[in-house]
Amino acid sequence: MAPALKAVAALGDLMAACFRDLDAAARDPARKVAWCTSVGPAELLRALGFAVYFPENHAAMLGASRRATGFIPRANAAGYSPEICSYLTSDIGAWLSGHTALSKPCPEIDAVPRPDVLVYSTNQCRDVADWFAFYARAYGVPLLGVASPRGVEDVTRDLVDGVAAQMRALVPPLEAVAGMSLDPDRLRAAIAASREASDLWREVLRTAAHRPAPLTFFDGCIHMGPAVVLRGDPRAGAYYRDLLDELRGRVAAGAGAVPGERVRLYWEGMPVWGRLRDLSERFASLGASVVASTYCSSWVFDALDPDDPFGGMARASLELFITRTDPVKERILADEARRFGVDGLVFHDARTCPNNTNSRYGMPGRLEAATGLPAVVLPGDLNDLRMFSDDTSRLAIEAFVEQLRPGGTA
Ligand code: SF4
Repeated sequence: MAPALKAVAALGDLMAACFRDLDAAARDPARKVAWCTSVGPAELLRALGFAVYFPENHAAMLGASRRATGFIPRANAAGYSPEICSYLTSDIGAWLSGHTALSKPCPEIDAVPRPDVLVYSTNQCRDVADWFAFYARAYGVPLLGVASPRGVEDVTRDLVDGVAAQMRALVPPLEAVAGMSLDPDRLRAAIAASREASDLWREVLRTAAHRPAPLTFFDGCIHMGPAVVLRGDPRAGAYYRDLLDELRGRVAAGAGAVPGERVRLYWEGMPVWGRLRDLSERFASLGASVVASTYCSSWVFDALDPDDPFGGMARASLELFITRTDPVKERILADEARRFGVDGLVFHDARTCPNNTNSRYGMPGRLEAATGLPAVVLPGDLNDLRMFSDDTSRLAIEAFVEQLRPGGTA
């Protein structure tokens, strides 16, 4: 393995500062906390002065710490099926058990920040609405949401107008909770900050189009933290500027994240959070670099526009990969495979997230027919490690990479 990126230390400090600020906001009667889904209207919440907390990030932290699986039965006992989103079940299970993953980076934090309001968008799935509804009942606070269409072929003007209208309708109830009126200049500034971070994050990811790639999907899963939790906050852009500099240095030096890179792969689907390091080492040991992914690219929002705040937020929400039809997804994947020069695709079939799993209705075969690129499907899950077999995945990865190596059987 190549040495870790130097930015990792700054990343840890930045994320910890973010969590400490959330904890402080929750304890300060003069401040308000909003919980938001990962691609909900975070910029609007920032503009209204909320400290913004993302339960999906918390659930991913539970997964990465390998604690998630142990909390799932607690949510099952409360009526949440083991078959539904394991972010939801592990997060609710941890809450019912009095545990927070925030205590790992910040030992003084013993609970997630108490919300004053919860805001979701169903652009990714319905599970987030049910997840947030649990906490709205538990804390007795308002639950607001955007019902966003799924299976979007073309992002039409009508669709954009419909979602933008729902986002505008959030303003009065949010103003009531925030105790302030929405300042259009603050909203524009938050969107400009998000857009800048998004553009830089895309450049970070695109450095991996170089051979050898200076970062992998597994690195991206760690470094995407600010893109997720600091949307609308200029600190995210500052972080990505430094990271981009470091990666360009690696490119200039010809230094790859996987020494001796021989095979380049695309990862489609959710990460297996509790096996991030193991999978990273497994691929690297075979000379395989996983250079691009749908997951990390899902926090690139080209449509955000400070001059059209609601229209841009609505369009960004509708353009998300997860909301699109299979033909659109296949075109995007084929373009990305070409851009990054991959030799094959890894589809993660995440048992509890059908929404972000694209291997179940023939897509790998159609893509292979269209691009000539072979694919392998890895059964697993984002947070429920009972669904993931180390032996099965090892054998599948070794066989797949072997066939793709120069001189292999592909
Ligand atoms: S998209 Fe998948 S992982 Fe994310 S909240 Fe929805 S069901 Fe869970």
